Amino acid sequence: MRYISTRGKAPVLNFSHTLLTGLAIDGGLYVPEIWPQLSHKELRSLRNLSYPELAAKIIGLFTSDDVPAPILLDLCKQSYDHFNHKAIVPLIQLEHNLFVQELFHGPTLAFKDMAMQLLGRLFDYILSQREEHITIIGATSGDTGSAAIEAFKNSRYLTVTILHPYGRTSEVQRRQMTTVLSPNINNIAVKGSFDDCQDLVKTMFADFSFRKEMHLSAINSINWGRIAAQIPYYIYAALCLGAPDREISFTVPTGNFGNILAAWSAKKMGLPIRFLGVASNHNDILTRFLLSNDMSIQEVKPSLSPSMDIQISSNFERLLFELLDRDAVQCNQIMQDFRKNNKMAIPEKIWNKATQNFNGMSLNNEETKEAITKIFKNSLYLADPHTAIGITTAQKYKDKDTPMVTVATAHPAKFPDAIKQATGILPPLPLTMADLYERKEYYQILPADLKIIEESVRAITRQNNF
Ligand SMILES: *Cc1c(COP(=O)(O)O)cnc(C)c1O
Repeated sequence: MRYISTRGKAPVLNFSHTLLTGLAIDGGLYVPEIWPQLSHKELRSLRNLSYPELAAKIIGLFTSDDVPAPILLDLCKQSYDHFNHKAIVPLIQLEHNLFVQELFHGPTLAFKDMAMQLLGRLFDYILSQREEHITIIGATSGDTGSAAIEAFKNSRYLTVTILHPYGRTSEVQRRQMTTVLSPNINNIAVKGSFDDCQDLVKTMFADFSFRKEMHLSAINSINWGRIAAQIPYYIYAALCLGAPDREISFTVPTGNFGNILAAWSAKKMGLPIRFLGVASNHNDILTRFLLSNDMSIQEVKPSLSPSMDIQISSNFERLLFELLDRDAVQCNQIMQDFRKNNKMAIPEKIWNKATQNFNGMSLNNEETKEAITKIFKNSLYLADPHTAIGITTAQKYKDKDTPMVTVATAHPAKFPDAIKQATGILPPLPLTMADLYERKEYYQILPADLKIIEESVRAITRQNNF
């Protein structure tokens, strides 16, 4: 399998290269050159596989010769082996034809572990084959940083530096990052905002001599490897509920459009998906687009579902490229104009195509709390704020003869305050993490100064003798 850029001016790459590269050099996103297809017969034959076996089969369609099948199977087994639930991605029924698929049983209690656990192992395997070392840098406001640290700790081929805004992440989120003691992990609390952290990362990437010296790499959600590793759970849920002999719908709490793009990819590969619901908080650029073709950037306002507090949904570009019948020139033009005008001009015909597949809904903070209360009252289910918005969206759009699945993206214990306010219950942390508040933390507090941060990145790489 080879990968092409949505903007048409970057080299065509194999899987390994795409994984290590992340963003294409023309500013575009990598997508598979062709979409692998699964016939109904093939889908039926996957029904009796366990989750890691199914994941290896599906992801193998994207890695092809770069990772031999037995090795990939082994990596998938290792990735999901230490999840807190034997089913790995269990389905829970809330109402007639309404289900939740829990994706939060990994080490950091959010769905990012689903992809990141495998990515850590894939990076290690590919780097060991190439005898290379890299430096991963990232900025986080919460879940991505901890998922990356958990996935890449103890790697012998890379170091990870994660910047988080000092004093501005939740305590659970910070502790999940800072209580990991591993020689290749570097946690920096930056005296500044999340935007300052992100700017520092962008500037380090733009500093070409530094980028080359350190072999910088990124693991944010524009990395194709993350999307590929999120496709299997949609297929798994669908097979459990009768696909391919029956259609199925999904609703996904979305920020960067990554998780829902994986659902759409499953459809593109042949899974009979009828409808895809986009759930957002008051940072509602995606739902405004779906309801009225208004994709204009507004200011990000903090919400009860912070992992969806974004204004630019990077992965939307991959869908746009497909809706444009893979016209990279037009895709490039629309994306350039978007950056200039802070508003994406999408032709009416393309918008119509998008709304044939997707619809959306957004909830403000008050409505989110009401949703948590109602779901608990009606089905005795504790949904975290992201998931609660997803379930409410699913209730709005579900039809009477298609099973509807909402993916639950975070464990309720990650957002104890909102749940407590809405239900009176303080959700306990799973046993594996019960001592999180007692563990020792390791991090440095640094000013938002490029030279100082770069020196810290160099130091950790030197300490690892790369
Ligand atoms: C990252 C995240 C999301 C958003 O996922 P995208 O792939 O950016 O759409 C939703 N919920 C939680 C809990 C997350 O951590």
